[in-house]
Amino acid sequence: MLKDVFMALSKNQLLTSAAKKYGLKLGAQTVVAGTNVEDTIKSIRELNAKGISATVDNLGEFVIERSEALKAKNSILEVIEAIHTNGVDAHISLKPTQIGLDIDYDFCYENLLEIVAAASKYDMHINIDMEDYGHLQPSFDLMDTLLKEYNNVGTVIQAYFDRAEDDIEKYKHLRLRIVKGAYKEPIEVAFQTKEEIDANFIKLIEYHLLNGKFTSIATHDHHIINHVKKFVAENEIPNDKFEFQMLYGFRKDMQIDLAKQGYNFCTYVPFGDDWYAYFMRRLAERPQNLNLVVKQVFNKRTNTAIGVLAGAIALNRLTSKKKK
Ligand SMILES: Cc1cc2nc3c(=O)[nH]c(=O)nc-3n(C[C@H](O)[C@H](O)[C@H](O)COP(=O)(O)OP(=O)(O)OC[C@H]3O[C@@H](n4cnc5c(N)ncnc54)[C@H](O)[C@@H]3O)c2cc1C
Repeated sequence: MLKDVFMALSKNQLLTSAAKKYGLKLGAQTVVAGTNVEDTIKSIRELNAKGISATVDNLGEFVIERSEALKAKNSILEVIEAIHTNGVDAHISLKPTQIGLDIDYDFCYENLLEIVAAASKYDMHINIDMEDYGHLQPSFDLMDTLLKEYNNVGTVIQAYFDRAEDDIEKYKHLRLRIVKGAYKEPIEVAFQTKEEIDANFIKLIEYHLLNGKFTSIATHDHHIINHVKKFVAENEIPNDKFEFQMLYGFRKDMQIDLAKQGYNFCTYVPFGDDWYAYFMRRLAERPQNLNLVVKQVFNKRTNTAIGVLAGAIALNRLTSKKKK
């Protein structure tokens, strides 16, 4: 129920613009590295000093204006240059809808091609993040075309999809991130229960660890992480064949511990002013994530926090009524 509320909030255009206007004041700064490239490089340096690499996401998705998609592309190109110039250990994650997939497929492809070509000069990996089911096949299609010319590209397999097993088989020669899946998907295409999703997640991870190129296991779930640690030891899978990934600001102590234990660790570092949908999805996954905010930001201003959230929910109800 609360999950549905936050998922609905994540798609609210009015709140997205309000969030941009008011900056990271709603508490998102605990899970967003900053609004500009300079702050982001600083955050990456701090992670690198702890033995952690980064995958950088210039926040933004479901863009419908060409100018916005071009702005996003230029910003990603700027980050690629900054990573190279500053010599930090990082690569890029991007969402196809941010660079124009909802506007025009070819336009999106041209933008993506420019990004992949720029990163390829520095041997930098580009991860195509996976969004909702409607964008799944077009995103694979974009990648298939890029792979004819470039090899610095990989993507994400979402374990909640029925088709994930076929996709991982097809793309096992690539560096893949495996996740549970973050969007609300219908029963026709996706597993719905935690048990089914977790079981498929483990199955896919094990398959790619044994047969694939390089596996990024992206989860905050310590049950899964412990299972993987045992599995790689039993199957003598070397540490250079996989890494753990978590989102910036989540389970920070565990991130550092895993790196200290000698595992490759990569933190997903989102930055920019378009943080609102990302933040709401994190709350939908785990409403307790609000604790991150409550503890670090709203301590002094709890009433304001509750007010902001209640206001957001009320505003969402009002705007969805308007749409009907
Ligand atoms: C690096 C990264 C990249 C991602 N990229 C994508 C993508 O491209 N596309 C996509 O659809 N999704 C993506 N996701 C999101 C992913 O699909 C899941 O929605 C998200 O990670 C939540 O699932 P989980 O595996 O972390 O654990 P959950 O299923 O949320 O949690 C399982 C259990 O883990 C423990 N736990 C979880 N979080 C915490 C916490 N913060 N503190 C303490 N205990 C906790 C709790 O015991 C909880 O019950 C990404 C996630 C990560 C980490």
